[in-house]
Amino acid sequence: MKVGEFEAWLASKGAENPCPSCGANEWIAEVDGGVVEAQAELAHVAVVTMRKRVSDDGTAVTVVDTHDAYMLTCNNCGFMRLHNQKVVGKNV
Ligand SMILES: [Zn+2]
Repeated sequence: MKVGEFEAWLASKGAENPCPSCGANEWIAEVDGGVVEAQAELAHVAVVTMRKRVSDDGTAVTVVDTHDAYMLTCNNCGFMRLHNQKVVGKNV
C-alpha cells in the first residue's frame, strides 16, 4: 500500500488524529527506501507477540505470533503508532 492510499484510508476511518502524546499532527510513515512521499510503498513492520497457553494436561506452552503492521512516528516527540495490515486490507 502506498502512503497516499493509507492517508486516504485513515481519513475514511476518521483516524487522522494528532499525536496522543504531544498533540502535534506531524506523522511520518515508515516506508521502504526511506523517502516519504505519496507514491512511496509503506514498509511492512513485524510486531512479535508472546503469550502463554496452558494445555488440558497443565503444560504451559509459549506461543509466538507475528503481526504485519504499518507504522507511523510522530515527528515531534517520537511516539509510534501501528495499524494492523489485516484490518487495513479488508477495509480498503
Ligand atoms: Zn508526538
